[in-house]
Amino acid sequence: ATPTALLVGTGRGAQLGILIKGPEVLESTRRVDTVVLDKTGTVTTGRMELVDVLLAPDQDRSEVLRLAGALEHSSEHPIAQAVARAALAAGKLPEVEDFGNVEGLGVQGIVDGHAVLVGRTQLLEEWSQHLPAELAHAKEHAEAEGSTAVAVGWDGQARAVLVVADTVKPTSTQAIKDLKALGLRPVLLTGDNEAVAQKVAAEVGIDEVIAEVLPAGKVDAVKKLQGEGRVVAMVGDGVNDAAALAQADLGLSMGTGTDVAIEASDLTLVRGDLRAAADAIRLARSTLRTIR
Ligand code: ADP
Ligand code: MG
Repeated sequence: ATPTALLVGTGRGAQLGILIKGPEVLESTRRVDTVVLDKTGTVTTGRMELVDVLLAPDQDRSEVLRLAGALEHSSEHPIAQAVARAALAAGKLPEVEDFGNVEGLGVQGIVDGHAVLVGRTQLLEEWSQHLPAELAHAKEHAEAEGSTAVAVGWDGQARAVLVVADTVKPTSTQAIKDLKALGLRPVLLTGDNEAVAQKVAAEVGIDEVIAEVLPAGKVDAVKKLQGEGRVVAMVGDGVNDAAALAQADLGLSMGTGTDVAIEASDLTLVRGDLRAAADAIRLARSTLRTIR
């Protein structure tokens, strides 16, 4: 490969809204056969809205929203922003002390003297806060419908389930078609639950789903595919994707995503449009074909 031809390739990349870290990246791009896609913020817009508050018996909706909203106000997670926005619209939020992010599980902190948790059921269960059967049922129902649901608890008791919904980016379905047309195998990888993941996958045409993985599990999933002899591209936007982006043979970040993800990647899709992932691979193939 002559350096000049490769640089022409990267210049064309800039026109397509693809930033390439260095010309050598095109070589690994050409060999990719599997594309692992993060869900939230990559395949979906990541802009969630609070659509429902499901309460355990004797709980107060506005108190749930106030305490959970205050806590989520300190988190940058798309779920958190949806909850905080809805809570702020309902009134002023109290201060949070000892805020903590529990990676891939949720958040915790002290609000108005209460030890509050918001996140996966697993997080609340670690503190022996179990959802009452009826609430667990309602949560599963919301998830089966394709929504994301997180639990809220404080002072040793599970109190409510917050239902948020995210939407698939209008360009994602075409992007998956383009990737498949290039002979690539798309895989959806997410920390979210199986039902939500399957629903999104079906909507955009992805057949393979790896769900309910912790952020560390994202790296393992990429390694496992590599262990099967696959050459893996990973597309992600979040802090929780950074390690997997670095592990992948080719890391692609969303320009709309976090700086950590962008730094860990080889290639950035400036406009956050997934179709540019297929463009990048097509470009790498044709650039390298020209110079052979
Ligand atoms: P994704 O792969 O969808 O970007 P994450 O690893 O960021 O997922 O989060 C995994 C799961 O942990 C979320 O689907 C949610 O259930 C829970 N979670 C993480 N952060 C928060 C938060 N700030 N508030 C509520 N739930 C959270
Ligand atoms: Mg994400």
